[in-house]
Amino acid sequence: MNNSVHMGEMVWREYSNKVKDGNCVVFVPIGAIEQHGHHMGLNVDVLLPTAVAEGVAKQVGGIVAPPVCYGYKSQQKSGGGNFYPGTTSLDGATLVAVVKDIMRELARHGVRKFAMVVGHFENYMFVVEAVDLFLREAKMQGIDNARAMVFSYWDFCDDPEVIKVLYPEEAESWALEHAGVFETSMMMHLHPHLVKLEEAVDHPSPQFPHYDMFPAHEDWTPAPGTLSLPKGSSAEKGKLILDTCVKGITAAVKKEFP
Ligand SMILES: [Zn+2]
Repeated sequence: MNNSVHMGEMVWREYSNKVKDGNCVVFVPIGAIEQHGHHMGLNVDVLLPTAVAEGVAKQVGGIVAPPVCYGYKSQQKSGGGNFYPGTTSLDGATLVAVVKDIMRELARHGVRKFAMVVGHFENYMFVVEAVDLFLREAKMQGIDNARAMVFSYWDFCDDPEVIKVLYPEEAESWALEHAGVFETSMMMHLHPHLVKLEEAVDHPSPQFPHYDMFPAHEDWTPAPGTLSLPKGSSAEKGKLILDTCVKGITAAVKKEFP
């Protein structure tokens, strides 16, 4: 048998043996199909949380469930906006229903320790809602020991020394990170064949007002779809980000699910 931590690569009996007593932490990456500028593909927000989940699962003896590949609608100030061709989003109620159904099924297999790995900013509160509804319904059905962590993996990249390496110039930051140094570097480390840095387009940082408009003013987003520039990205930075996130999340998972 292989030693994969990916549920989808396991034989059902092997998977069942691991989860039936409820002690195994199961990671559920929740991503999006969303434009990532001219230099990366549409599934960056699926690949990155899955890689982080894999790294942590290896540390804690966990399992990575197949990712939710579609997410909530791209918002202009975090993902460029939902008007780009290729960006393919779910309604909020659909995402909540999908995540809740997956949790219910995993619980039926025996899973009681859930780690929901958000890979797309806009998903967060919908995942929280799914977790809340799942726990409420599970309790009514007599399952009262299920618990779930919810986190966006990038929040664990909070070491000031690491930030200094990623963004050596003060003016840069990840406030507007979308297909910028952070995600591009991770992709260069994990999936270099999926990055075409030479296709990235230079543009000034967008100046968003303190409100959103619907329908969106499409010209608020720099035309290529990036919010910050990927200039300065490298595989080395990507490895540093991945290692930092895996380390921080591993510690948190061990704390909550000892
Ligand atoms: Zn992204």
